[in-house]
Amino acid sequence: MSSDRLFREPIDLHTHSRVSDGTETPGDLVRAAAAAGLGTVAITDHDSTGGWAEASVAAVENGVTLIPGMELSTRLGWASVHLLAYLIDPADEALLAETTRIRKARLQRAEDMVERISHDYALHWDDVLAQTEPGATVGRPHIADALVANGLAHDRSEAFAGILHWQAGYYQPHYAPDPLDAIRLVVAAGGVPVIAHPATRSRTDVALESRLAEYAEAGLFGLEVDHRENTPEGKLRLRRLAAEHGLRLTGSSDYHGEGKPNRLGENTTAPEVLEALIARATGWSPVYG
Ligand code: AMP
Ligand code: FE
Ligand code: FE
Ligand code: ZN
Repeated sequence: MSSDRLFREPIDLHTHSRVSDGTETPGDLVRAAAAAGLGTVAITDHDSTGGWAEASVAAVENGVTLIPGMELSTRLGWASVHLLAYLIDPADEALLAETTRIRKARLQRAEDMVERISHDYALHWDDVLAQTEPGATVGRPHIADALVANGLAHDRSEAFAGILHWQAGYYQPHYAPDPLDAIRLVVAAGGVPVIAHPATRSRTDVALESRLAEYAEAGLFGLEVDHRENTPEGKLRLRRLAAEHGLRLTGSSDYHGEGKPNRLGENTTAPEVLEALIARATGWSPVYG
């Protein structure tokens, strides 16, 4: 019965703050969610739970339900795969060791990329640091912001289409665990794993889709089907595969503040699905603001 539910609607389960590559503080992110009319928002910064405390306070102050989460970087062969991890125990030692390792690798990789770029463009590591909140998970978006600040791109999207593109000659991958290992880590930390935007590019998709039975067996909860970067054909395939493997479907914005065109609440998740997600979690609780 919806009247028995403690959380509010509508529900958006994927957003970023300045703790990773969003442009707002965690508190401002939650206030933006309230202003956009959301009832529930998940904070899912890349490889970090550093925004949870501030977002939790803002959730209570603004009457929004907060689902603390994270978007874990994983890799399948050459392809980057993002795993949303909800309601994990943020102090779980194995998960903490892994996110620490990923964040260190991301930092070194960003420095390496900037070193290469600096041979051809006026860009220095200090310019990137100037765009990055201390302790934040560093990614190409921070390099993009430095390129914009130095007049080398108009916005993040132009930087990604140009200098930061994986084929532009400056790209470098970074360490990330296999998705199956990541799913097991999240489940062991009491969390609920959902594969983020799994149908954006056909090359990755085939490899990923062939492993869903194995992932479901390991405790994968769902697939983020309603996301602007999933292709229409991909969404159809995901719906069929989810039914086949007993996986739930989520929908989210993947809001990054001004860092991306994605708007809060542009895709949402059904309350039945969030109810099942919360029932599955043992690592942490929603903040019922
Ligand atoms: P990285 O993980 O460092 O390789 O950077 C990828 C991140 O950049 C993703 O998590 C996206 O949020 C972000 N991103 C990818 N493409 C764009 C774009 N065109 N504009 C802004 N951000 C982007
Ligand atoms: Fe991002
Ligand atoms: Fe992602
Ligand atoms: Zn994301």
